[in-house]
Amino acid sequence: MNIVITGGAGFIGSHLCEFLLAKGNRVICIDNLITGSLLNIEPFKDNPKFTFINQDVTKFISIDGNVDWVLHFASLASPVDYLKYPIQTLKVGALGTHNTLGLALAKKARFLLASTSEVYGDPLVNPQKEDYWGNVNCIGPRGVYDESKRFAEAITMAYHRYHGADTRIVRIFNTYGERMRVDDGRVVPNFICQALRGEPLTVYGDGEQTRSFCYISDLVEGMWKLMQVEYHEPINLGNPDEITVLEFAELVSEMVGNRCDIVFKPLPVNDPKVRRPDITRARELLGWQPEVNLRNGLQKTIEYFRSI
Ligand code: UDP
Repeated sequence: MNIVITGGAGFIGSHLCEFLLAKGNRVICIDNLITGSLLNIEPFKDNPKFTFINQDVTKFISIDGNVDWVLHFASLASPVDYLKYPIQTLKVGALGTHNTLGLALAKKARFLLASTSEVYGDPLVNPQKEDYWGNVNCIGPRGVYDESKRFAEAITMAYHRYHGADTRIVRIFNTYGERMRVDDGRVVPNFICQALRGEPLTVYGDGEQTRSFCYISDLVEGMWKLMQVEYHEPINLGNPDEITVLEFAELVSEMVGNRCDIVFKPLPVNDPKVRRPDITRARELLGWQPEVNLRNGLQKTIEYFRSI
């Protein structure tokens, strides 16, 4: 197949490119490198089936030839990044999704939207099921990301219902692994890099908020399975093993082997208090569930950060 991946030089996008190339597909990666990096595509950039286009997908996208799939993964995805680039965050979720849907329609290609657990905002139910409508502060600092992805889901469903576009929506929960940026600002790279440098780990708030961390290979496998079924409603993909941020800090500290201090910093505004996916739908429809436990995934991720 010929597959267009926006955000293909990012953390998740580059793993997806690599996975799809290994399955023998042609991959056209579009990225403006605002948070993506050419280093992420280095391992496969010389593969003759791989093409890189440096472009902002909020501008009109033109691709020669047949396209079978458009996978829209371009986005600022870390709270630190979307607070730094709020307008770009809104634009890539809104205009970028409109353009990539337009490309899919013009090419009669199938379309997959990378959405997020942030559509649930600071959820009032735990775990989160796909039929939960969420609790989002649209004018809060995180609103730029949450609302851009909620709009992206809305326009994807509208293209499906109105134009008959063959679409998928995946709601991605916290995912980690190799190729996350050292300065990404999210909790996994922050804690690992702080621990490797022997610095104190910065826990925001009292650390009692929870997250559930999914290793990248599990996520990619789930997305591939989603590409094999015809299902248009959103599907949660994530690891349902929930842990508090404080417990996570202790685990990273223990695994890196430096007994690190913990410093408490203010909790960011609207930081969700709990987050855990209900993956019943993915289990039933895709026969998917995560296989990599947190210790094993963290071991690989720590080795990666140690190496760079
Ligand atoms: N967090 C933390 N210390 C850090 C970075 C993040 O305590 O150095 C907390 C953050 O407040 C949140 C959780 O870890 O409660 C996960 O944050 P992250 O930025 O990874 O992504 P989020 O899940 O909020 O989108």
